[in-house]
Amino acid sequence: MKVLKFGGTSVGSPERIRHVANLIRQSGRNIVVLSAMSGTTNTLVEIADYLYKRNIPGAQDTINQLRAKYQGVVDELYSSDDTKARISDKLERTFQVLTHFTNCEFTAAEEKEILACGELISTTLMQGYFEEIGVRSVLIPALEYMRTGEGGEPDMKYISTRLNRLLALEPDAEVWLTQGYICRNAYGEIDNLRRGGSDYSASLIGAVLNVEEIQIWTDIDGMHTGDPRIVQHTRPVKQLHFEEAAELAYFGAKILHPTCVLPAKLHNIPVRLLNTLDPEAQGTVIANFPPDGTIKAVAAKDNITAIKIKSGRMLLAYGFLHKVFETFNRFNTAIDMMATSEVGVSVTIDNTQHLAAIVDELKHFGTVSVDSDMVIVCIVGNINSDSNSRFCAQAVEALEDIPVRMISYGGSNYNISMLIRACDKQRALNKLNEHLFEQNHG
Ligand code: ASP
Ligand code: MG
Repeated sequence: MKVLKFGGTSVGSPERIRHVANLIRQSGRNIVVLSAMSGTTNTLVEIADYLYKRNIPGAQDTINQLRAKYQGVVDELYSSDDTKARISDKLERTFQVLTHFTNCEFTAAEEKEILACGELISTTLMQGYFEEIGVRSVLIPALEYMRTGEGGEPDMKYISTRLNRLLALEPDAEVWLTQGYICRNAYGEIDNLRRGGSDYSASLIGAVLNVEEIQIWTDIDGMHTGDPRIVQHTRPVKQLHFEEAAELAYFGAKILHPTCVLPAKLHNIPVRLLNTLDPEAQGTVIANFPPDGTIKAVAAKDNITAIKIKSGRMLLAYGFLHKVFETFNRFNTAIDMMATSEVGVSVTIDNTQHLAAIVDELKHFGTVSVDSDMVIVCIVGNINSDSNSRFCAQAVEALEDIPVRMISYGGSNYNISMLIRACDKQRALNKLNEHLFEQNHG
């Protein structure tokens, strides 16, 4: 058995839903995880925002637009009037729930219920379509098995027990359908696995069921050597190690959510990235491959802020780094990258919510300067491999005429990170792609 996850654009129109349904049908007896149709979760966020602001007409207006959109989808997706009426009724119940929130007190708990509607709708639509084309699909509600524990982390034991039980109740299913992203928390309230969390759902399901493979279907043929939207002549990467995929996802490759890698890695389940627009394309396989001594891809993480703290006596004054890190820790701010010298330390963060307070605090320990609008460029592969000691030189050479603010190398065997200005990003990424991939591979 496999887990197949389809993202928002893969189910983004009636035509795409039909196409994906055919892919699913041909793939055998698997578990299918769906995202909301593209744009829907953003619209739900907007509705919640109106409700927080007590702008009831704004919320109602947006709900009505969403309802009209889905009425159009229902009309186009199904051929029989009977299915159209039945699915419209089901969706109407969801819209009633949304409307209900315009008349009650609105808190984070209600917001989570609203955000859950997108996946509830997309799975209802897909199931209706399967019924119409005569495929026995069974909907396994994520809210009945997907759960986080007290610390907010997935409760693997609960998920495993409940999901196995639900699947065992439906031995005749040809396809199991379920919602990505949504879950319940430790108190049984509706919650979610954060934006983009459907990939995480797929990986968690794959892990607890110990499936043969987790497939993440999007609309690009796998992880590319660079971001094809801004880099020319990229090509798909055939194989990635789990660690490489984790680095790429964390440092900005949008195709895979960073949280998705860990459950698959821990259970050693291959993750395959595939393209609904070109289902025959090989895509990218992420697994526990032995080191192959190559650079795989370059990713970039935007909106980075660099903070430098200079102190006259950093090395002699032991405890300096401790105090610096402790400050970030106290403000719940994660550090992405760091570089040290005798006289100071530079770190980067992407969450600037507490920046002013952090800087204020750091001024007790040294002279502080802040650079915003920076980008981390992350070169990923078997960087420390003995087979090619020139990787680092190649990367630096590629950026010879671009100011590099920080370099971090040696934290793992899998990445070299460089911090540059946002205005140099496009040029830097194209140069790296040329130097690292085009010249070596012709
Ligand atoms: N629908 C959710 C989102 O847009 C989850 C996902 O698509 O992965 O964030
Ligand atoms: Mg996604």
